Amino acid sequence: MCLVLALLLSAVAAACGKAGSPPTKGPATGELPVYQVAKGFQLPDSPTWRRARKRGHLVVGVKEDQPYLGEKNPATGTYAGFDIEIARMMAASLGFDPKTVRFVTIASANRETALQNGQIDFYVGTYTINALRKKLVGFAGPYYMAGQSLLVRRNDNRIHGPQDLDGKRVCSVAGSTPYQRMRKDYPKAVLVAYDTYSVCVDNLLTYQVDAVTTDDAILIGYAAKAPDELKVVGRPFSKEPYGIGVPRGDNALRFALDEALRAREKNGDWRRAYEATLGLSGVPVPTPPPIDRYPAT
Ligand code: GLU
Repeated sequence: MCLVLALLLSAVAAACGKAGSPPTKGPATGELPVYQVAKGFQLPDSPTWRRARKRGHLVVGVKEDQPYLGEKNPATGTYAGFDIEIARMMAASLGFDPKTVRFVTIASANRETALQNGQIDFYVGTYTINALRKKLVGFAGPYYMAGQSLLVRRNDNRIHGPQDLDGKRVCSVAGSTPYQRMRKDYPKAVLVAYDTYSVCVDNLLTYQVDAVTTDDAILIGYAAKAPDELKVVGRPFSKEPYGIGVPRGDNALRFALDEALRAREKNGDWRRAYEATLGLSGVPVPTPPPIDRYPAT
């Protein structure tokens, strides 16, 4: 089963435990911006920042199998994508050289725990801001607005939207908002859950499931890498504002990241990063959503 997808998606080569070559289809990452590192930056009120300063680098949680967003090259171990660029520009704003950021892959279901137990300093990986999660972690942003959608096989003409999913096998990721929404709003679909979306896509290509559901930004990336095999159908049926997850209560870090996002949107870095990554999957550059600086927790 792994073989099928390894042929199509570079990211999955990692999941299949073998070093892969660059993707055979779809554009490569573009020319990446260089971010100005803030000189003499201090954030003494943030315990997370102080710990990172002492350590000498930031540790950032990300995804590794989401094309154009957070993708790890299995041959070199380097990460690329829009979320990775957001993490790098945030590092620069916090006074750290982006080249020194240590990325750690964390699955959707493990994000809150990783932030709570100090495994990571912050998290940038298609992480939807919502009220439930705000009880467990803090969120800077949003820095991007996605929406839940559906990925099906190119030759499938049965599924056009979530209304067509009754009795169909639908794959999503445990602990994700699309998974929760399917369970609640579309109980007649046969829901299958894995830890990562690339495994869902593998299952789709091998006819184990009929559809994959998650954010359009993620699905468009898989479709762009395998346009002859996959397509995204219908309109987005939710709003998924992407935030930067921080340890709950570290308001100083959250506010600093809010400010940094504003500044990077203003000086063009956000746009340049988008164009060099997610923009390559074919979606024109959107206006970033307004930052929601909510009161200290
Ligand atoms: N944005 C959704 C979420 O945070 C789906 C993508 C993901 O699992 O990272 O749950």
